[in-house]
Amino acid sequence: MRAIGIDIGGTKIAGAVVDELGTIVAHDRRPTSATDTQLIEDTVVEMVQHLTAGELAKGEQIAAVGVAAAGFIDASQSTVYYAPNISWRNEPFREKLERRLEVPIIVENDANAAGWAEFRFGAGRLVSDMVILTIGTGVGGAIVSGDRLFRGGFGAGAELGHLRMVPGGLPCGCGAHGCIEQYGSGRALLRIAGELADAGGIGRELAALRTRDGGLTGLHVADLVQAGDPGALSAVRTLGGWLGQACASLAAVLDPQLFVIGGGVAQSGDVLLDPIRAAFLEHLPARGYHPESEFAIAELVNDAGVVGAADLARHYAGAV
Ligand SMILES: [Zn+2]
Repeated sequence: MRAIGIDIGGTKIAGAVVDELGTIVAHDRRPTSATDTQLIEDTVVEMVQHLTAGELAKGEQIAAVGVAAAGFIDASQSTVYYAPNISWRNEPFREKLERRLEVPIIVENDANAAGWAEFRFGAGRLVSDMVILTIGTGVGGAIVSGDRLFRGGFGAGAELGHLRMVPGGLPCGCGAHGCIEQYGSGRALLRIAGELADAGGIGRELAALRTRDGGLTGLHVADLVQAGDPGALSAVRTLGGWLGQACASLAAVLDPQLFVIGGGVAQSGDVLLDPIRAAFLEHLPARGYHPESEFAIAELVNDAGVVGAADLARHYAGAV
């Protein structure tokens, strides 16, 4: 049976009807307000009703609805403890939706939903244990262990960006210091590139672009990587080195068959994966005495959130 996935962002809500193979068969997208929580609820209800009506007209039924949003969500996939981009605090969102929509509903962290989509329909579809690290502005992630999404005892687990790499290191938005997010994120890549630009030498092309455009962007670094610029390549290798160390620590705990690397920076492919693999092997505990994890780039770029939310909801409803 088909399910509906909804992905609530800070400025827009995406929704889709998703079939059993993870294919989007209908979609919808509407603007929203981060502060008007009633409008968010009303918009989600309208989108579900609209998408459901379209399916009923085709003679199809909807098994369940999965809603993904950034934030901490309780272990029963019901209440949003805290959302960084929306004014929700202990919001019983599932209960509110269930009162208005007669269909099973789950609420899930957006990184978990996207990771689940990658596990079911993307790079992780052939393994049982997978860790995904998504390199965006920050570092997001999800864990699948024994074919199940790992959520933690309170639902707030798998915040992989806040694995501590450097005791007393750079301050992080989470309140701690030295998190991998400060060393392995898109923002960290720009900081590393900026330091290389300051130093001159191999950073001179980075410095030239920074002067020309008044600052460095991810696109500058990506373009220079494409062109084989030694400064940009060095920045990506440094980033990969940190991520590889993080993967080695994660492997000691989770022993996944596969690490998947997603996000914009992952578009550089082996330029990023090679240093990740090298640092992983260098730091892997008891190397040589057990099988080693593989590495892959994420296959699902867009819509992973809605696809994963829909599939998790279908599992929850038992309609698999
Ligand atoms: Zn942190």
